Amino acid sequence: MKGLLRKCVKCGEYTLRQDKCPYCGSPVRCPHPAKFSPEDRYGKYRRMLKKALLEELKGA
Ligand SMILES: [Zn+2]
Repeated sequence: MKGLLRKCVKCGEYTLRQDKCPYCGSPVRCPHPAKFSPEDRYGKYRRMLKKALLEELKGA
């Protein structure tokens, strides 16, 4: 799962293309390159979601 998604450096669109943006042709990069990414503030919610899913699986 990790590493599949890319984000265009120019227009910010997400894509599964590994070489370039399908919209504007600009290079793409991994949207989660480092721990200190501003997007990591959502990590808390990702962990909460994962925990909730695990709880649900246990209860099923
Ligand atoms: Zn683009």
